[in-house]
Amino acid sequence: MSEDYSVVSEGKVVVFHYTLTDDEGEVVETSKDRGQPLPYLHGAGKIVPGLEEAMEGKTVGDTFDVEVSPEKGYGEKSGPGPQPVDRSEFPDEVDLYEGMGFTAETEDGNHLPLWISSIEGDDIYVDQNHPLAGETLYFDVEIIDVRDATDEEIAHGHAHGVDGQQGH
Ligand code: ZN
Repeated sequence: MSEDYSVVSEGKVVVFHYTLTDDEGEVVETSKDRGQPLPYLHGAGKIVPGLEEAMEGKTVGDTFDVEVSPEKGYGEKSGPGPQPVDRSEFPDEVDLYEGMGFTAETEDGNHLPLWISSIEGDDIYVDQNHPLAGETLYFDVEIIDVRDATDEEIAHGHAHGVDGQQGH
């Protein structure tokens, strides 16, 4: 086994704990709330680009802070901003909440990612911007594990859980 087997590089599954803080120092989310670190397939674009770049070459036990600009995070804000859509346009059985992401199909068949920015009665305001678009992101990271991705994970382009056994 080569010495760099546990270094983050393409084709590795990285398992990490993180806390994400915004410009105001507010914690946006933390993996520690879930009590479980997050696995991802490195090089597959499953985490924001600025964080993925900072992971490269790190190893198990490393802890570090990363500041990610909007362009390496969730992008700059663009488009017309939140637009109201009537509640009846959404399936009845789906619970809607602020910050919820979903995909809409456009008339020409493209899939457009959208987020619910606010809910005012039957007016559901949707925005093409991710809730963290335009924000500088501050990640506090601890790397828990780095392992080779399984053939199945490589084929699917995503991690199958911490141990690679949670296939789907
Ligand atoms: Zn899969």
